[in-house]
Amino acid sequence: MDHAVIIGASMSGLLSAAALHRRFARVTVLDRDTLPSVDAHRRGVAQSRHAHGLLAKGREIMDELLPGISAELVAQGAIRGDMQRYARHIHAGQRLARGESGLAGLLVSRPLLEGQVRRRVGALPGVRLMQNRIATGLLSQEGRVTGIRLADGEPVPADLVVDASGRGSRTPFWLGELGYPQPEEERVVIDLRYGTREFRRKPEDLDGDLIVIIAPTPESPRGGVALALEDDRWIVTLAGYGEAPGLGLSEFAHFAATLPAPDLYGLVRFAEPIGEPRTYRNPAAIRRHYERLTRFPEGLLVTGDAVCAFNPLYGQGMTVAALEAHNLLDTDLGALPFFKRIAKVVDAPWEITVGGDLRMPGVKGNLTPKIRLVNAYMERFHAAAAHDPELAMRFLRVANLYDPPPSLMSPGSLLRVLRSGAQRAEPVPA
Ligand SMILES: Cc1cc2nc3c(=O)[nH]c(=O)nc-3n(C[C@H](O)[C@H](O)[C@H](O)COP(=O)(O)OP(=O)(O)OC[C@H]3O[C@@H](n4cnc5c(N)ncnc54)[C@H](O)[C@@H]3O)c2cc1C
Repeated sequence: MDHAVIIGASMSGLLSAAALHRRFARVTVLDRDTLPSVDAHRRGVAQSRHAHGLLAKGREIMDELLPGISAELVAQGAIRGDMQRYARHIHAGQRLARGESGLAGLLVSRPLLEGQVRRRVGALPGVRLMQNRIATGLLSQEGRVTGIRLADGEPVPADLVVDASGRGSRTPFWLGELGYPQPEEERVVIDLRYGTREFRRKPEDLDGDLIVIIAPTPESPRGGVALALEDDRWIVTLAGYGEAPGLGLSEFAHFAATLPAPDLYGLVRFAEPIGEPRTYRNPAAIRRHYERLTRFPEGLLVTGDAVCAFNPLYGQGMTVAALEAHNLLDTDLGALPFFKRIAKVVDAPWEITVGGDLRMPGVKGNLTPKIRLVNAYMERFHAAAAHDPELAMRFLRVANLYDPPPSLMSPGSLLRVLRSGAQRAEPVPA
């Protein structure tokens, strides 16, 4: 085929281009933003100022789509590390046991990651990146999408259009304009509020650990993440459901002190702050069920956050975007088969986040008996995983999107949980 046009040059659009350039003579990636020539934040990706963890699976797929990219990032300061060995994972108030998971993490700021992906994709044969172009509508002929229209009225013809424009995607509206049904939209109102600060990182901080993840609990619905970044920095994001951390240094530390574990408080209390603090408010996690449609025009696909914008605390968005881009290598680029394939990619991370969110006070949604059962089991699982590195590793394989959530209920895992005799226990100290 000749020409693919992708709306959005963020992670999802760029990785889609990395896949599609193998099939199309020309791939055009358009973005409404001015794309920075250096690794910098930009308007369309305001989230880049907050902790952006890349799951091990996402790193692996990016290396498959853009061979050697991890090594290039490391050469520019990104940090490699085992996701269990160098990390403090505190879930359900339990500190997961250390071990060697074999899950290779890559710690890198979002601007550096996206900047390097953009450089690599822009250099691929046939790929063209175009900035300051706003897609405002679809062109169509006889039930097939044949391109897009830009804000200045210019038509851009294409054999395939991929909407990777993020959670604000206009495709549902455009479908209506063309006389097609809109996808069902599932929303979980989380009202998650982020506050983020960066700090100077010293080698002795956190005894050399690189990652801290403190998940919120129903009793303490506040969480936080610290990630080691290039240029000897920490990025620390604190989050609350329905309440924001204060951004002043002492308010920030005070909020950190109220998390289910003391590690982030210990870090931010003495660390030297760098740059300006930032906030972000995420009203809802949104999933658009394109896979449930029975009528959809050929020549159009939707991917990334435009399909599913997760609760960002779980760090899944970029990995899901990479897995969906990988699906574009499939020989069948029919719209409905594509949506069915990526629905399978989205199902597990959506189930994980929604199950977790529905435990939080104030988060409304369909708390089914199955979710209640799974949540009760996971409390015991985490208590057991605090003493069992194998269980901790199994949990991290699910969290990093290698294994499906039911694997945590396999007979082998169940037996280990039951044998541990673990009940819900008091949090262990740092
Ligand atoms: C606060 C926060 C923290 C997050 N933390 C993590 C994390 O730790 N780990 C993780 O993996 N993911 C995280 N995510 C999710 C991650 O940022 C996204 O999943 C990822 O960027 C992929 O999204 P996307 O490319 O589909 O859309 P986006 O990143 O939203 O990009 C959409 C792009 O489309 C462009 N655009 C929009 N409309 C148009 C138009 N009409 N015409 C032309 N261009 C257009 C925009 O300028 C933008 O460049 C986080 C998200 C948020 C909000």
